[in-house]
Amino acid sequence: MGEIIYWGIIRTALLILALWFSFDYIDYKFWWSAAIISIYVIIIHPAIIQFQLFKERNKRVLTDTLCSRCKHFDASAVLCLKYDEHPTAHYVPCDGIDWEPKN
Ligand code: SF4
Repeated sequence: MGEIIYWGIIRTALLILALWFSFDYIDYKFWWSAAIISIYVIIIHPAIIQFQLFKERNKRVLTDTLCSRCKHFDASAVLCLKYDEHPTAHYVPCDGIDWEPKN
């Protein structure tokens, strides 16, 4: 999840620079349209695609693992909050010793 936010910030910074420098070269009435379209194409759409890939990659961890039913598991980041590690379908950081049921 942090990777999606990181690249979103990088793309936003680059787009701000590009829009800033393009302001003098594009007619004002077209500049806003170009800015809105480029925000969607360069920032929003890639973030949506990255998030869908993130969900697809972690689908099994989020549904079929011991961690997915543990109170120390943060599903939004696919992270064990107790060990500060990312569980996978084949790796449980605590080996099940610290598992505690969700409410
Ligand atoms: S405490 Fe153990 S079972 Fe619970 S989320 Fe962390 S690694 Fe998974």
